Amino acid sequence: MANDSSQFDVTVIGAGIGGYVAAIRAAQLGARAAIVEKQYIGGTCLNVGCIPSKALLHIAQLYAQFEELGKLGIQVPGAPTFDMRVAVAFTQSPTQVRVTLNDGTTRDLTTAKLILANGSVVVKPPFAGIEGRNVIFSDDAMNMPKVPDSLVCIGGGVIAVELASMFAALGTKVTIIEMLPSIIANEDEDVTKALTRSLTRRGITIATDARVESIADAGDLKRVTAMTAQGPQTFDGEYVLVAVGRKANPAGLDKLISAGLAMDRGRVLANERMETNLPGVYAIGDLVGRTWLAHVAETEGEIAAENAMGHEATMDYNVVPRPIFTFPEIASVGLTEAQARAKGGAVHAEKFPWAANGKALATNETEGFTKVILGEYGEFLGVAIFGPDATNLITEFSLAMRAELTADEGVATIHPHPTYSEALREATLAAEQRPIHIYLRAAAAARR
Ligand code: FAD
Repeated sequence: MANDSSQFDVTVIGAGIGGYVAAIRAAQLGARAAIVEKQYIGGTCLNVGCIPSKALLHIAQLYAQFEELGKLGIQVPGAPTFDMRVAVAFTQSPTQVRVTLNDGTTRDLTTAKLILANGSVVVKPPFAGIEGRNVIFSDDAMNMPKVPDSLVCIGGGVIAVELASMFAALGTKVTIIEMLPSIIANEDEDVTKALTRSLTRRGITIATDARVESIADAGDLKRVTAMTAQGPQTFDGEYVLVAVGRKANPAGLDKLISAGLAMDRGRVLANERMETNLPGVYAIGDLVGRTWLAHVAETEGEIAAENAMGHEATMDYNVVPRPIFTFPEIASVGLTEAQARAKGGAVHAEKFPWAANGKALATNETEGFTKVILGEYGEFLGVAIFGPDATNLITEFSLAMRAELTADEGVATIHPHPTYSEALREATLAAEQRPIHIYLRAAAAARR
């Protein structure tokens, strides 16, 4: 909390990525803006979420790549070693700000508008043994004292597969237990199958259709018991990572809740202007919990600030990119093929493999594909990329979908060579059944 006055136009509760963006935008629009933060500037994303997890994934990838150097003719004397404490120190920001009111005093602010950006906290399911030794959550995974020898990861969602990839690259023997029939179950089936194969090749064991019931000690190890179609099955590991999701954090909002703040299963309800049902009170980010993504929280923060300052702005959730930082990366936008087909109408979907892209061959990043799903008029219904730099490349399709461009405009756009971006154009050509660098037997037969 800063400032010597207690009068504000906009006060934001929570300085996570949604909250600080909202405050900056409100100030840009002339507001006297305040942020109230109880723990750390930057919230989940900067402290225990996106940024430290991607820093650790980057370090893990560099470490794992040492094994590949020999194939490229690079000889490094001696085996590489890894020090988890140094890696963790690298992820901590030296510019972190912590404000502690240690005299116990309270300060009352008056504000014209309020933006709630309290974020989320990890879900702790009520398994027996959840509070035990060596049972960790994603926040703890950013601060490990050592690389675990083995890890049982409960959950196969986005955070779980990212952390599993990171630990596996550092040499941990990882097992993922997922209660649904597949990991990252919301993604396109081709992607979930390809990721499952990829993780398995990297030594990760994946048990699906397995519902965890308890965690217990087994000597020095932990033992997780899950119910499967074949009956109870046990999985042992030095650590257990519980990554079954996050939930909105309405802690501290009691007065607003008793004033009638509309909620739904713990989340604050907000419309597309980010307004709650209480006049002058807005809510954004994980507290609203529409997507659980940092870039959505940021955009919602801008929208809330603009409306709080008398402008007109609405959120558009139709084109939200979904990044997953595995090795290789995954990124998708729009519908999966199954969702597109369920809507009815013509659907043209095809994959273009990275093995047919020159840049991917040159950099030895040939695993995966780009899948484009087109509608009847060549409109982009959805795209999924599993491959190098997918999380950057997806923006080409986000922009195309947002601008309502069609496949024709995508393929008429010249892409530089040799780049990964050429594969995006080729995947669109493939969905139109006319790729240049792969042969589609069915397409050729149809032309005859
Ligand atoms: P938060 O970042 O959680 O911030 C909320 C803030 O409010 C916190 O600082 C909290 O201390 C404060 N607060 C709460 N209650 C009060 C109160 N009563 N008074 C004062 N302050 C309060 N998303 C992506 O898009 N890409 C990724 O790669 C990605 N990776 C992730 C990896 C991990 C391991 C995790 C856990 C999450 C990841 N996410 C990622 C999700 C992303 O971190 C969140 O969607 C994002 O942080 C939400 O922002 P927010 O501002 O809503 O909430």
